[in-house]
Amino acid sequence: MSVEDVAAFLRQHVIPVEAELDTGSSTAMRDLRDKARAEGLWALPLPADLGGGGLSLRDYFGLAEAEGSSDHGPAALGSASLLDVRMISTHGSRTVREHYLRPLVAGEISGSYAMTEPGVAGSAPTLTRTTAQRTTGGWAVTGRKWFTSGASAAAYVTVLTRTAPDELSLLMVPTSQPGFRVVRELPVLGAGGQFEIEFTAAHVPDDHLLGVPGDGLVIAATRLALGRTLRCMRWVGQAQRAFDLMCRRANDRHVHTGPLAGQQLVQRLVFDSLLVIRSARALVAQAADLVARGEDAKTEIGLAKVAAAGALQQVADAAIQVYGAEGLTADTPLPMLARLGRAARILDGPDELHVSATARRVLKQFQAEGEEERAPDQFVADRDTAR
Ligand SMILES: Cc1cc2nc3c(=O)[nH]c(=O)nc-3n(C[C@H](O)[C@H](O)[C@H](O)COP(=O)(O)OP(=O)(O)OC[C@H]3O[C@@H](n4cnc5c(N)ncnc54)[C@H](O)[C@@H]3O)c2cc1C
Repeated sequence: MSVEDVAAFLRQHVIPVEAELDTGSSTAMRDLRDKARAEGLWALPLPADLGGGGLSLRDYFGLAEAEGSSDHGPAALGSASLLDVRMISTHGSRTVREHYLRPLVAGEISGSYAMTEPGVAGSAPTLTRTTAQRTTGGWAVTGRKWFTSGASAAAYVTVLTRTAPDELSLLMVPTSQPGFRVVRELPVLGAGGQFEIEFTAAHVPDDHLLGVPGDGLVIAATRLALGRTLRCMRWVGQAQRAFDLMCRRANDRHVHTGPLAGQQLVQRLVFDSLLVIRSARALVAQAADLVARGEDAKTEIGLAKVAAAGALQQVADAAIQVYGAEGLTADTPLPMLARLGRAARILDGPDELHVSATARRVLKQFQAEGEEERAPDQFVADRDTAR
């Protein structure tokens, strides 16, 4: 399969039913999944021994922008469970691996992931209030999470929870357990899919702990590195879609002096949009290269996240402007792309978090390099002066 195969699948099958998928239609999603299996496009980055396509991360990265040009692409093509499958394969007990992995890859079940809590800054997970108390053979989880994507249909929720006062861990809570409850759906700019959920002494068996107690933030960081990289690729794919629509419209739409494409103010929107898309794509490729090699990509992911989220927001907005009033309606996908672009600047860590963390990291490197470069006798002089 090639990137053209994936792009054609999106164009022919997924994009035409996006509005239906936005309403949560399970029939439309089931049909798409059957088609993806029939065309050999199912679960491409998931392990072959579990029923997936067995693509390496590097090869999958080559397809992820096309697959993510619709927000429903990864679910339709069976790769939405990639982060869970990798997390469970690496950190799950034998029981959870045997219980969840095959059904996840087959698309028979889905999971969701809950870190963010009401009343606490989501960008500071060390403030997590949800707790897990030791019980016989397991844990009793109590707390509330929100913006948990897909929680209402999930077979389990992976929850960041405090297992001791100074210890955060990830527990997989089966949603069939008494004590788990979906409180409400939280539409984001009018679109569904995010939920507030509650745990009231929900029982979690011992073997549903990922890693060992206290591993929560380390496992979450690895998951987020890949998750953010993939999300950036999808945002670039969605920005490209808005861009393509804008350019077609600029050529087709005429004002009294000719096509909109002839107006310099429209040309400026086209230029600025192309610039942010190409810049974001290059930054995302740098991050992806490091992630595929298993190397530290924090700085590159920080840059890519801010660039890709900003690109989607800017280009979707420019496309709406060129479309005029029609661009604000559901006759075009532009309101949906604009909504995704707006949310992109908050989810997966707000832009500001990435800006300050990246800048701090870079400045620290300069400081370290500066100290290395200084002659040893300079340090002696500094010490003496300090005394
Ligand atoms: C569509 C969508 C899907 C989501 N899915 C999930 C999910 O599946 N699971 C999950 O756990 N969460 C999910 N979230 C939640 C998301 O991860 C959080 O919204 C995000 O981490 C920010 O947390 P917060 O909303 O509590 O904002 P806060 O942490 O309260 O931050 C609020 C604002 O403060 C500012 N700010 C924060 N930190 C800094 C800083 N260091 N410097 C300067 N300014 C700063 C920013 O402007 C930020 O927007 C989702 C959110 C959305 C919108």
